[in-house]
Amino acid sequence: FTSDAYPNLKRNPNFAEISAGDVAHFKELLGSQSAVIDGVTTDATDDIEPFNSDWMRKYRGHTRLVLKPKDAQEVSKVLKYCNERKLAVVPQGGNTGLVGGSVPVFDEIVINTSRMNQIRSFDAASGVLVADAGVILETADQYLAEREHLFPLDLGAKGSCHIGGNVSTNAGGLRLLRYGSLHGSVLGLEAVLPDGTIVDALSTLRKNNTGYDLKQLFIGSEGTIGLVTAVSIQCPPRPKAVNVAYFGLESFEQVQQAYLAAKGQLSEILSAFELMDGRSQKLVIESTGNKHPLEGEYPFYCLVETSGSNAEHDMAKLESFLESVMGDGIVADGVLAQDETQFQALWRWREGITESLSHLGGTYKYDVSIPLSDLYLLVEDCKARLTEKGLVGDDDSFPVRAVVGYGHMGDSNLHLNVAVRQYSKEVEKAIEPWVYEWIQKRQGSISAEHGLGVAKREFIGYSQNETMVKLMKQLKNLYDPNGIMNPYKYI
Ligand code: FAD
Repeated sequence: FTSDAYPNLKRNPNFAEISAGDVAHFKELLGSQSAVIDGVTTDATDDIEPFNSDWMRKYRGHTRLVLKPKDAQEVSKVLKYCNERKLAVVPQGGNTGLVGGSVPVFDEIVINTSRMNQIRSFDAASGVLVADAGVILETADQYLAEREHLFPLDLGAKGSCHIGGNVSTNAGGLRLLRYGSLHGSVLGLEAVLPDGTIVDALSTLRKNNTGYDLKQLFIGSEGTIGLVTAVSIQCPPRPKAVNVAYFGLESFEQVQQAYLAAKGQLSEILSAFELMDGRSQKLVIESTGNKHPLEGEYPFYCLVETSGSNAEHDMAKLESFLESVMGDGIVADGVLAQDETQFQALWRWREGITESLSHLGGTYKYDVSIPLSDLYLLVEDCKARLTEKGLVGDDDSFPVRAVVGYGHMGDSNLHLNVAVRQYSKEVEKAIEPWVYEWIQKRQGSISAEHGLGVAKREFIGYSQNETMVKLMKQLKNLYDPNGIMNPYKYI
């Protein structure tokens, strides 16, 4: 853990400190001390530790209290009390966020959603699922699979992240290209404001033009204006046929040509187009020991997925796409999954990158949107800069172990990751704010899908102008005048 993760932050003295009376109150409200997992978790450091540290083990808080309410009514009572007492809180789902948003900075109370885990309803005719915020993404998808439907979001952390967390971060994931953003697929939600008001906007309608679409404010607001307790979401029918191809390419120019060809030739069945650079794939080989699917080594790899209703037709289209891009010299080598096992295995070359990086030590993560033509240039420029500063090299004496680029090519979304032996100010200063200036020059976004959290809060100005930030602050003050919701983060 870095001890200097928050050098510019001081605990806000306006917030109260948790007292024995508060703990007694919450125990009374939610359950007894014996119900460590189900009710109120206190004191026991072993239990409290995972709630205080994030998935990357980069950010660490010091909460002494984790509350696990079971429904919106309990959340309402908890928040009302916290608001009156000026006790700061952090909403927490699966704690897989990558910007330090889900863990406390100081002693904020964690309100964890894991006990709000019921599917409320599903209507096959409309495809609308209504579920509690604490339902795990994979559980929701499995439930839908049994009903021949699909959750319109998929990402590497699906086994742990909660759908409330997904909505609160407006997660993008692997199939945004096909199913769009949660701003489109979420039809309604239930949330609790800091004063305890339960916002019942759990509409299941696709069309509802009756006033401001206030639910959108909660999508991507990272727990700063309220706590989402349930979500209603439009789910598409599960594709009957899903195919995947994985191929190697010699240049980023060719990656762009392959993407253009995929859009043209696979159009209505294209469901993912992912980019991985050569270094990222070597890391997956090193950490898993798996044999790479292609014989040769290439600087770039792409994964193309199709989802449709006719396996033969889709496979024929994918085969002819691969033939054409190989025939045209765009793709150097490629492979098609022949069965479910190979399908999963090929996806692991993409989904396993984050995990492989985590074995190297720490990772500076930059999740950015840039116009497609410049997408990979950022990785090259960053590597050149770190090399010039003497931070990257071939042996163990250099602090940087790898500079890799991968991401959602179809969404112009790159993940630039700088893996280090340990987090250090020297490396951080070499990358920031240079990286944000680089993105600003190209009118990109400094956070495409992971959000702002504590990691990017100081840098919002690189992607949003003063007027926008002012409007955001006004909204925050309106919904959360005492500032108790996820303080020190976002804006
Ligand atoms: P948490 O991490 O618990 O919380 C995230 C933020 O939301 C915090 O600010 C928290 O306060 C707030 N929050 C959580 N629940 C609520 C609630 N009910 N109400 C209000 N606020 C709440 N993200 C992507 O977008 N695309 C990817 O492809 C992707 N891949 C990933 C792969 C891996 C291996 C990992 C570890 C992470 C990945 N992520 C990705 C990031 C992360 O999984 C997502 O941000 C996810 O949506 C977070 O969900 P969570 O339940 O873990 O939320």
